[in-house]
Amino acid sequence: MDIAVTYLLNSGFLVRVGRILLVFDDFEDQQDVVGKALQAGDDYDAVYFFASHAHFDHFDKHILNYQQEAARYIFGYDIRRTKRARLFPQEKVTYMRPYEEWEDDCLKVESYDSTDVGVAFRVTEKATGKSIFHAGDFNWWDWTGETAENRKLAENAFRKQLKRLVGMKADLAFFPVDGRLGPMQDKGVREFIRVTDIGVLITMHDLEESGWKPGVDFFPEGKRFPVWSPVVPGEKKLVEMTGGITVK
Ligand SMILES: [Zn+2]
Repeated sequence: MDIAVTYLLNSGFLVRVGRILLVFDDFEDQQDVVGKALQAGDDYDAVYFFASHAHFDHFDKHILNYQQEAARYIFGYDIRRTKRARLFPQEKVTYMRPYEEWEDDCLKVESYDSTDVGVAFRVTEKATGKSIFHAGDFNWWDWTGETAENRKLAENAFRKQLKRLVGMKADLAFFPVDGRLGPMQDKGVREFIRVTDIGVLITMHDLEESGWKPGVDFFPEGKRFPVWSPVVPGEKKLVEMTGGITVK
């Protein structure tokens, strides 16, 4: 069983697990990846739309175009206060605060806190048992231009939430590696992979297209897994789950 992942833009992805489609943080979809997937019609059982928080580069009202097809919209709690949220069919929307759980016949969703606003998601597809973590804007946002005090606050916020992720398992994890952070670009993800148990890492939130790749010292001792850093919208990979995990 493979998981198919297509890059939309920024932190936006279409993920196919079994017969379920998951769309994360689709703020812009230049290649109409989602629209085309939905036109394939009977080839999937249900599609779910996730938005981790209200920032424009994560949540956009164009996903309203899929309200017929959407089994559910699952949003970070902060989205509720936005004007855009009122446009959505409320009977199809679930808002999640940090450390909540929601489930239906197909999915179980657990939310974590972010270091920015909104939440991170851990989604388990029940038929296959595969789990996917999407960090939203959870990261160690260590901006070198900030004051020492602010940098310490950012670190504390990050470490506080990271504690809640210790031992978290996910077959696939999406995590920010933002080129604007310069030398601090992968500081957060390095800590994240040290405490969690993930099968494949896909990096995101790098509109700079910094060309980040894991260096030789990236992986903690005894841990190795495939990493994919997509750049071009519409790029697609199959994450193989049989006989060891590799990104094709
Ligand atoms: Zn963001």
